Amino acid sequence: MIKHDVLIVGAGLAGMRAAIECCEDLSVGLLTKVYPSRSHSGAAQGGIAAALGNSEDDSWEEHMFDTIKGGDYLNDQDAVEEYVKAAPRIIYELEHFGCVFSRMADGRIAQRSFGGHSKPRACFSADRTGHAILHALHEQLMKRGKEIRIYNEWYLHSLIVEEDQCHGVVVSNVKTGEVEIIQAKSVIFATGGYGRVFKITTNAYASTADGAIAAFNAGVPLEDPEFVQFHPSGLYRQGILFSEAARGEGGYLLNGKGERFMEAYAPARMELAPRDIVSRAEQSEIDAGRGWNGEGCIALDLRHLGEARIMERLPQIRQLGIDFIGVDCIKAPLPIQPSAHYSMGGIPTDMFGQVILNKDKAPLKGFFAAGECACVSVHGGNRLGTNSLLDATVFGERTGKSAAEHARSVGFGQINEGREKAGVLKQIEEIFQRTGTESYNDIRNTMKDTMMEQCGVFRDSGKLNECLKQIKLLQEKFKKGKVTDKGKVFNTELFEIIELGNMLKMAEIITVGALNREESRGGHYRTDFPKRDDDKFLNHTLVHKDGDQLKLDKKPVVITKYPPKERTY
Ligand SMILES: Cc1cc2nc3c(=O)[nH]c(=O)nc-3n(C[C@H](O)[C@H](O)[C@H](O)COP(=O)(O)OP(=O)(O)OC[C@H]3O[C@@H](n4cnc5c(N)ncnc54)[C@H](O)[C@@H]3O)c2cc1C
Repeated sequence: MIKHDVLIVGAGLAGMRAAIECCEDLSVGLLTKVYPSRSHSGAAQGGIAAALGNSEDDSWEEHMFDTIKGGDYLNDQDAVEEYVKAAPRIIYELEHFGCVFSRMADGRIAQRSFGGHSKPRACFSADRTGHAILHALHEQLMKRGKEIRIYNEWYLHSLIVEEDQCHGVVVSNVKTGEVEIIQAKSVIFATGGYGRVFKITTNAYASTADGAIAAFNAGVPLEDPEFVQFHPSGLYRQGILFSEAARGEGGYLLNGKGERFMEAYAPARMELAPRDIVSRAEQSEIDAGRGWNGEGCIALDLRHLGEARIMERLPQIRQLGIDFIGVDCIKAPLPIQPSAHYSMGGIPTDMFGQVILNKDKAPLKGFFAAGECACVSVHGGNRLGTNSLLDATVFGERTGKSAAEHARSVGFGQINEGREKAGVLKQIEEIFQRTGTESYNDIRNTMKDTMMEQCGVFRDSGKLNECLKQIKLLQEKFKKGKVTDKGKVFNTELFEIIELGNMLKMAEIITVGALNREESRGGHYRTDFPKRDDDKFLNHTLVHKDGDQLKLDKKPVVITKYPPKERTY
């Protein structure tokens, strides 16, 4: 059996930052189903927020207020305060780690505007910020190679919990197909988001809810799953992201009549209103028949920025347009549509990354989570752009620290290795034994279509009930598929099926959360309940596993400095 003091699952920004924090005196394992540098963090484009005040005066208080207003007051304000205060230090630390940020003429780190931020606050490396940070952290890991063992292309199946303590994980080595137990005193999940549940998404293929569902299966509730962010500028029909930085640099959004329609929805902030508001505005224009070229899309027009600025600040976006649809944004607008982008909800933690089990915040000892898979909750009902790279880095560090402290204070527990392994082997064998006629590809595509249409930007009880019915039907069909590859070595078909099972569960949890929340707040919009309802719903959703059923509970929102107000832009 493999043993580590701390085992981290996920090697994006959150997982790598956590690893750096605990490797000084402890044995650390970092396990990831894709190579660390292929984690979705590397796709982040626009920037990372911090109130450095380099372009205009700024303060952590303003960053805090913008984040809370952006989140429609569902954020836990004590956590937001810690997080925005840590931001400037985190940026300089990343810089000293070797991350190359874009500069102003005087040499200081440049900062640009982003949706919902009242000041230019986004530090960036052209439009490849995630790439720059991810590689800087990866280098730091290489430097500490002796203390950290990286398990590349290993797959997490389940969490080992006994007597209210977490003791490790059950995993597969994808290359050999062997199922293994890794025992650990502390386990950190940093497994990212689950945008792949939806048809049109900006997310990488690996963003499939594995971590969230492994936690859920082990008895941890999921918090605020109904809050899924749709990004206003995913490539039409494909979802590939054109960063909000394009609008931060001054890009326009145009409808089919050539109008800058945001005037009608958020006159003060226009294209730089928060994402939930811009996505709804776009979808409203499309639904009213005012799409660009009469199609289901909107135009992102950058032509007026000029070639020099586009080449300096947005080179990747330009290349993506050319590579994927043959459109050069220097000469023509890009067709875009709202695309599933970010999960505000996830595995509930306190502000030290400790996973909690219920509304009374009882800890599941030895189990921690950070980054997009976690819900601290600093983003509330809607995350502001550039706040997620910051979340992953700040809480990666804090969670690494907590996990290390825990690991130093306890010994290895007792685990029933045979039973844990047998559970996963049985699940795999059961998939191999299926002889049904259902196609997993059809099930996956129908799930994505259903979630996009019935549980997307605009929701209502009719659509959501229909969605839930369809997802349950798909869960039944899922049991009647057939595998073609029954081999052990690099059996990607098997792992894709397991991922699909996780996504079907996640889809159900998102939909049940959305049905329950009879109000509109942040990224969750109910056309049958178009107003925010603080009397009934100023609380976090907790979705618990109850046998095969789901059970809902509420957790209070922590409000410290900013009582809820009407949210206008
Ligand atoms: C296209 C795009 C652009 C973005 N741009 C920005 C931006 O400019 N600014 C910003 O603040 N935010 C941005 N975001 C959001 C931000 O990038 C992510 O929220 C953040 O990077 C998530 O980091 P993470 O470390 O939590 O997870 P990820 O980087 O997603 O990493 C997840 C890790 O978990 C591992 N994993 C998952 N499941 C398993 C399993 N079963 N077994 C083993 N390993 C597993 C994966 O291998 C991977 O290493 C963007 C997101 C996208 C999709």
